[in-house]
Amino acid sequence: MAKKDYYEILGVSRDATQEEIKRAYRKLVLKYHPDRVPPEKKKEAEEKFKEISEAYDVLSDPEKRKLYDMYGTTDFSQQTGYNFNWQDFFNTHSSEFSDIFRDLQDILENLFGFNFGGGGTSTRTRRRRARGQNILYKLPLTLEELARGVEKEITYNRYVKCPTCGGTGGKKRVCSTCNGRGTIIRTSRTFGFLFQSQSVCPTCGGTGEELYEKCPTCNGRGLILKQEKVKVKVPAGIMGGQRVVIRGMGDEGKEGAPAGDLYVEIEEKPHPVFRRSGEDLHMDMDITVSRAVLGDEVEIQDILGQKTKIRIPPGVQHGETIRVKGKGMPRVDGRGRGDLIVHLNVKIPERVNGRAKKLFEELKKMGY
Ligand SMILES: [Zn+2]
Ligand SMILES: [Zn+2]
Repeated sequence: MAKKDYYEILGVSRDATQEEIKRAYRKLVLKYHPDRVPPEKKKEAEEKFKEISEAYDVLSDPEKRKLYDMYGTTDFSQQTGYNFNWQDFFNTHSSEFSDIFRDLQDILENLFGFNFGGGGTSTRTRRRRARGQNILYKLPLTLEELARGVEKEITYNRYVKCPTCGGTGGKKRVCSTCNGRGTIIRTSRTFGFLFQSQSVCPTCGGTGEELYEKCPTCNGRGLILKQEKVKVKVPAGIMGGQRVVIRGMGDEGKEGAPAGDLYVEIEEKPHPVFRRSGEDLHMDMDITVSRAVLGDEVEIQDILGQKTKIRIPPGVQHGETIRVKGKGMPRVDGRGRGDLIVHLNVKIPERVNGRAKKLFEELKKMGY
């Protein structure tokens, strides 16, 4: 048996504290993480990983460490009958490394084919910490705001990591029902055959951890509701129903999982004058009979507040439209504006008196 120096393996001094040993081990676990090791180095990493875990297992236990110190660096396992075992190691230490607990379990499953009762990709996915929820916020804006573009500060509530427990929800230990596996195996005997079925652990819901002391601030949830203020830049020309995404401003995830996104959905408030149809705007305009007959020039204010002249050609009919190029909504890509479409309503006077009446009578005689 090869001589093993556990202190050397972990890179700590002989009088290292428990905290130093733990830190050193954690660093090494991350170093030999399967995601960081190229495929051709896996075998090497596998050996290394077992070596550091064995070293940590011994040095982190005051009893074992004392024995080891007494016997020196010679083959410890033969002298004491100590035998390194992954399952024991995992059950003993997984709670101290709850943050890398799942990685650790995956390492053992992937590198050593160790079966913790799960196996396969489905358990890996299930164990992965869930990303925070996305939040949908509806922001009503006037047509003027949508035409110009606007920056709005919005106030909303989102779940953030609880400052008391740091997102863990309280004190946790390896689930006593499933021993940290996240699954339980039921064995039944039928006609002399043994059948095994596997299901998600009912106590921990598959996480492999159970809360034994709830954090009083968040009541075990790990997250608390916080009022958040955020500035939303709404580009000119955006349409109702479209969304501005603010990455990472949704709910934060549990135990450091990434936050969801904030979706700000634009709602278009109705406008007293303009109706929108994509990049075009529509409006109604009443005109008198004489203007319809003779034509005219009318000044209006467009959606950006700019004065715009509308030329009414002579002889327009009721219900006809005039298209004014480039006076509609700005395009969201910044390339110009849509059109303004004016719907003409020829107003027939309900009552005419005096001179006007005489003139209409004259027109009548002339055949108009
Ligand atoms: Zn808490
Ligand atoms: Zn469990």
